[in-house]
Amino acid sequence: MKKILKKYIKQIIVIALLLIICDFLVALPPYIVKQVVDIDFTKEDIIQTIIFLICIYTSIHLGRLIFKYIRDVLINTTICKILKDIRKTLFNKILDFKMITFNKYNSAELYTRLTEDVDNLFALFLGFLYSILSNILYIVFMIIMMFVANINLAIIGAITVVIISFIVYKFTKILGNLDNEMLKKRDKENKEFSELYNKSKLTYLFQLQNKNIDKMNSLLYSELKIRKKYIFIHHFPYWLIAMVQAIGIYLIMYYALNINTIISLGSIYLVLYYTKECKTPLEEICNQLEEMQTCLNSYKRIKVLLNETGAEHIDQGTYINNLNGDIVFQNVFMKYDKEMILKNISFTIKKGSKVTVVGRTGVGKTTLINILMKLYDIESGKILINNYDISTISTKCLRDNVSYISQNPYIFDDTLRNNITLGKKDITDKQINDLAKEIGVQNLFKRMPEGLDTEIKISELSYGELQIIAFIRAIIHKANIYIFDEPTSNMDLKTEKTIQNIIDKISKNSTVIIIAHRKSTIENSDEIIYLKDGKVDIILEQ
Ligand code: ATP
Ligand code: MG
Repeated sequence: MKKILKKYIKQIIVIALLLIICDFLVALPPYIVKQVVDIDFTKEDIIQTIIFLICIYTSIHLGRLIFKYIRDVLINTTICKILKDIRKTLFNKILDFKMITFNKYNSAELYTRLTEDVDNLFALFLGFLYSILSNILYIVFMIIMMFVANINLAIIGAITVVIISFIVYKFTKILGNLDNEMLKKRDKENKEFSELYNKSKLTYLFQLQNKNIDKMNSLLYSELKIRKKYIFIHHFPYWLIAMVQAIGIYLIMYYALNINTIISLGSIYLVLYYTKECKTPLEEICNQLEEMQTCLNSYKRIKVLLNETGAEHIDQGTYINNLNGDIVFQNVFMKYDKEMILKNISFTIKKGSKVTVVGRTGVGKTTLINILMKLYDIESGKILINNYDISTISTKCLRDNVSYISQNPYIFDDTLRNNITLGKKDITDKQINDLAKEIGVQNLFKRMPEGLDTEIKISELSYGELQIIAFIRAIIHKANIYIFDEPTSNMDLKTEKTIQNIIDKISKNSTVIIIAHRKSTIENSDEIIYLKDGKVDIILEQ
């Protein structure tokens, strides 16, 4: 955040200067009125003095309008640029998250940070510059003017301003805490909405509507309770401020009328005017500080995200051209959280072989691949490819040379072509169509109204069809090592057979690792690694 603000330091300095000029020009006119009130009417050049003061008064107003216009344009354009940079940085930061950091947040939270929270920053910056800084400057100038007019009256006026400021500060803090509680509730509601949307099918099938409504009702009710408390406290400081101000004005009048020294009428007017006037900027600060609490909480939450460590620097490490060779696991331990999932795993997968990993549900098969793909870090041990420790190899190099089809077929809201090529220009339509024909799924492609240009709607395709698209994507991106995590679990026997034939063909020139439960897949392997209780139970060579 500091880095981004530093980039706009020149604009920020100019804005600060413009704020000072504008607020000085706003605070000045009553001082001119004081001069008019204090004119000595017995002097001969009275007309000249009045004309002079009117000219100054008009110039101040005109100057204020011009500076205000420049100030407003500069403030708004600068904030827009800063926010664009923040959103970009935030988006890049999230994309660079390691999986372990990603898992800490749910999608609704990340969505809120990028949208609502960044929008709140706009209000935060605007509110800070316009209502807080500008009003503080205005009050400072008013106090200075009071002291210029009369020190004793100014002391009473200044004390009144300080007491009002204290009230404003205290109540803002209380309201801020309540606001924070409301935000937390809102986060929970967002999460519920997002769950409801993502799992709508499940809700219908298991008739969870009533349960969801109850859950949401209780969330909304607890938010309403805090909101009521908020409204009650929110209106309290206004009459307290008005009372303090009335006492202040009374004391100024009392002092001015009961001392022996003569105080000019203009000075009394000026101090009274400023003491009364300070209420408006202080209330504005009060209102703004309340609103800013919401924005400030957004700022804090964005900061947490920006301060996340553990970014994935995919270019960090050595890039080995054409990375290929034996894959060796040496005494590898891995845990996501507290419990160790993989314990002392050691095996070798020979270059060019076809190996199947089997084991019961939840034993750690996908985890094994996750660490080979550097999606998660290992606790101890080593993973080597062609004798290179993968921790020293750049993630980019690894992922350029290893093609992975995950257990869940990830499909983007994009065209069929882009889902397969992932933007790689050298993959032609002919290659895609030929592969579809080879697998025997050309009908799936033909059914698409606009062929490869059809926008994929995940909800309108079967799981098996999604797996086929993901399979084509993995195969078409040429690699030295292919990993398939249950690639055919949802396919009919015929499609499965063709896919197995293609995998067999690939395995002639590449290393292939398959995670599978089906007997047919296991039978064709050169080697079978059995996992049990997070350990290698047995390795069978066929
Ligand atoms: P399946 O046959 O069902 O695909 P698997 O052998 O692939 O199972 P893994 O996905 O590797 O199993 O999971 C191994 C264990 O690690 C499980 O107990 C699972 O709950 C846990 N686990 C998996 N992913 C995470 C994660 N991101 N954070 C915490 N624990 C996880
Ligand atoms: Mg798995």
